[in-house]
Amino acid sequence: MKLITLNQDPNIIVSKKVTEFLNPDYIYLPVDKNKIMVKQNDLVLIDAPVSRETNIVSSISGMVTGLRDVYINGTKMKSLVIKNNYKENRINLKRTAYSQLNLAYFLDVLAKKDASLLAIFKNLKKVDNIIINAVEDEPYVANNIMLFKDNLNELLGMLDELSILYKSNTNAIIIKEKDSTMIEECLKTIGSFPNINITLVKDYYLLSQKPYLLAYLKVKNETLYLSIKDLLKLANIIHGLDQNNVKYLTISGNALKEGKVFKVKKYCSLAEIMTKYLKLKTTDYELIVNGLMRGYLGQITDLIITDEIDSIILMQKEEQHISKCFNCGKCLNVCPVDLNPIYLYKKNKPTKKCLNCGLCNYVCPAHIDLKTKIRGKAQ
Ligand code: SF4
Ligand code: SF4
Repeated sequence: MKLITLNQDPNIIVSKKVTEFLNPDYIYLPVDKNKIMVKQNDLVLIDAPVSRETNIVSSISGMVTGLRDVYINGTKMKSLVIKNNYKENRINLKRTAYSQLNLAYFLDVLAKKDASLLAIFKNLKKVDNIIINAVEDEPYVANNIMLFKDNLNELLGMLDELSILYKSNTNAIIIKEKDSTMIEECLKTIGSFPNINITLVKDYYLLSQKPYLLAYLKVKNETLYLSIKDLLKLANIIHGLDQNNVKYLTISGNALKEGKVFKVKKYCSLAEIMTKYLKLKTTDYELIVNGLMRGYLGQITDLIITDEIDSIILMQKEEQHISKCFNCGKCLNVCPVDLNPIYLYKKNKPTKKCLNCGLCNYVCPAHIDLKTKIRGKAQ
């Protein structure tokens, strides 16, 4: 296994506090216009479905004002525009106390609420280890560690419940050792949960991905693996909390005075967050969606914050001298899935085997954008 620590610019700072932005003026729900169930001037409630498509629910209460074109994940789409009435009127959700939890009830709630989580738990019998991955790989992004700090009791409580349900021996939350000072305070709370431990790992790239983390930890026995985001989603679903319409989003980079981690309502616009909370150092920048290593270029005006968008990096434009490949072999040596990046690039052979990890671009001294061509349409 090839493990690399990425260099980071110490001058790019991300605030250690979460900034809440839970009252956007408007949200933009991506919809198929033939499946919309509401009309102009209708009042919608939080968590109310607005379309016959599954999973499309409003994250604010307010009035339907019409349709607008937006770009979501680089694709032009229709969106239903809701104007906030700032009243937070919501559909009532059933709340459940932790003490009521048993395996049958747990699986029944997942069957009703979330197919992807049900798939993880449905056939789970014996669990020796529960591994919760809170590692963040992308430079200048701090969603996971902030999510952990912000929801400590819910997360530790849910993990404790899982450890009791499945009688697991090891129950660990994994963070990078460079993040440990940020959660020092939190570590005191863990004393109330003696069967949970925090495991620190080195600052190696790709440990946010399941196979690399499990190989690094040398976990062999029956393991239940969840990301910290999944653990929070699970806690929200099982306990009927109304948090599934919010998400964490890091906006940082050297074009900003200071980066921030936001807790935002889903489907708000990036432009509104930028105008209200962030100061640019320059207007000559590139906007990268979802991280420097794995992300893609975007525009402020186009972006709606959907589930798939975790970070926005704004970097000052630099003159980068791209030269011809001089066959140093670095891209070949670093590829975690043993592809030959320069061969695939020269032959123009995109492959789905590429993880889009960005390591070949990162090490290439000639600054050739290998990844984009190798990943091709699979991106
Ligand atoms: S981006 Fe693809 S080709 Fe490049 S190192 Fe990662 S997996 Fe290999
Ligand atoms: S790292 Fe860059 S210069 Fe070196 S072999 Fe790969 S493409 Fe060529």
